[in-house]
Amino acid sequence: HRDPYRWSTEDIHLAAEMAERTWATVENARAQVELREANQRKDEFLAMLAHELRNPLAPISAAAEVMQSNPDPELVQRTSQVIGRQVRHMTGLVDDLLDVSRVTRGLVKLNKRPLEIREIIDHAVEQVRPLLEARGHRLLLEPALQAALVSGDENRLVQVIANLLNNAAKYTPHGGEIRVMTELRDHDVLVSVHDNGIGIPPELQPRVFDLFSQAERTSDRAQGGLGLGLALVRSLAELHGGAVSCYSEGPDKGSRFIVRLPRLVQPAGGPADEQ
Ligand code: ADP
Repeated sequence: HRDPYRWSTEDIHLAAEMAERTWATVENARAQVELREANQRKDEFLAMLAHELRNPLAPISAAAEVMQSNPDPELVQRTSQVIGRQVRHMTGLVDDLLDVSRVTRGLVKLNKRPLEIREIIDHAVEQVRPLLEARGHRLLLEPALQAALVSGDENRLVQVIANLLNNAAKYTPHGGEIRVMTELRDHDVLVSVHDNGIGIPPELQPRVFDLFSQAERTSDRAQGGLGLGLALVRSLAELHGGAVSCYSEGPDKGSRFIVRLPRLVQPAGGPADEQ
């Protein structure tokens, strides 16, 4: 209308109906795109999984052939070590798969008790130390000034921090610096893992914790696993009533992962209370 127009109740009704339908269509389209993307990630994951599971088979079968044709004890010893190593690698992949499916379906029961976060970090560092050393990284630990207690499952929380440290070590070029900081808030304990590595492109950041999410693989990303680690980290942090977030200013600017867990405050003389 060129001139001012008084909308009738019917007009308004019609406009509202149109808006609602348009909105529903947009939502529907968006959901479909998300579904298609998730499906594509799953397809890519299956292809990669097949690849990762097939890789160890070649050295295993070559080793078996060598052992059959040459019974020299020293050679048998060496080739059986190859088999052992490859089988351990495959077992690790399959264990990760089973674990992620249990955790993300909520089938994991936490064995919770009061824990000092410092000890969790120390255990995680012990697990990752061989990789840190192999890659020549410097590790800096900045603990909280006071006791930082949380209520949690020790093995699972060690797994959370170890996964983040493992990624920091993998995705940082040789000779990098990794920092683990603990901060206390009124109701939370924050543990952050910083690295000065390859960083995370902005488009990956919103879905870095999704199952099967990974940055593009290049030859220097040969260290990449199955894309399950951060999905596990998020599920486990949430099972503890916490959360996890990630920050990176982009490629080659390093990354920072922060785990937030509800803090336990120990009342004088009494047992700890969850905040
Ligand atoms: P994986 O390491 O097995 O690929 P994750 O779920 O642990 O799977 O990580 C998902 C992806 O997030 C990685 O493939 C990598 O692209 C990116 N990423 C994780 N941690 C870091 C980090 N510290 N620095 C850079 N990229 C990272």
